[in-house]
Amino acid sequence: MKPNLAKDKASCCACRACEQVCPHNAISIIEDDNGFMFPLINQDKCIGCGLCMEVCQFCDKDLPLVTSGTAYAASTMQTDIMASSSGGAYASLATNVIKSGGVAYGAVYASYDGILRPVHLPAVTVGELAQQLGSKYAQSDTGHSYSDVKDALESGKTVLYSGTACQIAGLRLFLRKSYESLFTVDIICLGVPNSRMFEDYQKYVCKPGSMITNVGFRSKQHGWGSNYLDLDLLDENNAKTVYSIRASDSSYYDCFLHSAIARDSCAQCPYASLHRPGDLTIGDFWGIETQRPDLISGEKARYVKNKGISCVLVNNEQGEALLSKHGSDLHLELVDLSSVVVGQPMLRSPARQSPYRQVILDAYVAEGWLGVEHVWEGIHRKAEIRARVKSLIPDGVKAAAKRIYRMKG
Ligand SMILES: Cc1cc2nc3c(=O)[nH]c(=O)nc-3n(C[C@H](O)[C@H](O)[C@H](O)COP(=O)(O)OP(=O)(O)OC[C@H]3O[C@@H](n4cnc5c(N)ncnc54)[C@H](O)[C@@H]3O)c2cc1C
Ligand code: SF4
Ligand code: SF4
Ligand code: SF4
Repeated sequence: MKPNLAKDKASCCACRACEQVCPHNAISIIEDDNGFMFPLINQDKCIGCGLCMEVCQFCDKDLPLVTSGTAYAASTMQTDIMASSSGGAYASLATNVIKSGGVAYGAVYASYDGILRPVHLPAVTVGELAQQLGSKYAQSDTGHSYSDVKDALESGKTVLYSGTACQIAGLRLFLRKSYESLFTVDIICLGVPNSRMFEDYQKYVCKPGSMITNVGFRSKQHGWGSNYLDLDLLDENNAKTVYSIRASDSSYYDCFLHSAIARDSCAQCPYASLHRPGDLTIGDFWGIETQRPDLISGEKARYVKNKGISCVLVNNEQGEALLSKHGSDLHLELVDLSSVVVGQPMLRSPARQSPYRQVILDAYVAEGWLGVEHVWEGIHRKAEIRARVKSLIPDGVKAAAKRIYRMKG
């Protein structure tokens, strides 16, 4: 049987399960013109065993996706919450797994000549874990982590594996059996741009001779959810400068937030619902101020909103076990699942691609990040002018115009 992987661009999330399972090393993962990774099969090496199709989540797999309906608000009590993008739920869980002798896998930045690329690595010390904290808004390369996880589990280690839902689905299918000592955490996910674009953006903003030492999306300097990007640069004299840029002033961040550079699979994400592949799902508790104001102000207040608050969904018994065994450093408060879903479009349906996505991708192929920058500036200026004009129209006139529009529609 000739394997039929990634039959169209939306049918592959680049989890690498196929590549790692192939017993004949017949699969390599290569970049397309835009920098998105896809499998390529060497037909001379392939013997048609079909294993790769068996582990591929886009090949009619019946991967059980679960939801128990139990949801919590959460923030960490132990680690530095400011290093995490939301409430630090992951930091607490992973710290405790590591302290009890386990290993925690997550996304870290690897540096190549002063330019950063997200990759999945294990942490066996709290120091190593620190690098996993915080959202990296580009696809993290799972590398050979699935095979390494299998080896660790077979040798009796406790493993916590975190990542986007498709990375968790890929791991579960790759393993093809469940392990009591494996815990998985999927993050609520808007979609991922690819690493090449992210690197090209860094090269575009980095002065010659400088190195980028961190790209901190979701910097909390201006409070949780303020969408700033902190760019840490080291110049040729080893002097460090941190540039704090508003998301709307960064072509990369703005394109990410508007789903203008995400993978094709993200627009049809199979996990943008309450049915999840991970034992736990974590995200931000957006909308807590309207859904549960009692938790952030007044006598019963338990959380500091500016520092960040996570939502944690418990999807199955293994998730329950992870929380009860390793969640002791979390401030947990049981909440209605619906109060979380209200602020989470990604738990209802996939993010809609920006109408400008194709123009942006074409510009990238033609001229690299400079091309994206030009297109984005044009779109951005139009959006700014629209917003400015809108702000000059009195509210009464806006309401009347809306009524007329509705009557006509
Ligand atoms: C691409 C992306 C899109 C996201 N979209 C949403 C969203 O729409 N709504 C929402 O509520 N939350 C979203 N998040 C998740 C959110 O930003 C937090 O990561 C999450 O709430 C966990 O917060 P924390 O404070 O517990 O952990 P943090 O310390 O903030 O994050 C660490 C965790 O994030 C994982 N991680 C970081 N970057 C990546 C990456 N590139 N790929 C895979 N895993 C990664 C690490 O492995 C670790 O598990 C997104 C995250 C990413 C990476
Ligand atoms: S297993 Fe993963 S990388 Fe391979 S084709 Fe399927 S989704 Fe793509
Ligand atoms: S069919 Fe078997 S040998 Fe061929 S690429 Fe897939 S896993 Fe490898
Ligand atoms: S949106 Fe879905 S397909 Fe895209 S990275 Fe996130 S989990 Fe994977």
